[in-house]
Amino acid sequence: MAKTGGIIVQSCPNCGSREVGRIGSDHYYCHDCCVEMSELEGGLVIHQVEEDGTLVQIDDWS
Ligand SMILES: [Zn+2]
Repeated sequence: MAKTGGIIVQSCPNCGSREVGRIGSDHYYCHDCCVEMSELEGGLVIHQVEEDGTLVQIDDWS
């Protein structure tokens, strides 16, 4: 698969699941722990998706 720079998320950094799907050019979603990953310069930002759709950034996952 061709990829123009950046990183490829193959497993969830939050729970380790491989059920990670791409939902946008720079966005991924883990179907196991329901976090959204945004690819930014230098790494990933992870957001927990609350039941009401609110995104809460996770800072302490590493
Ligand atoms: Zn996960």
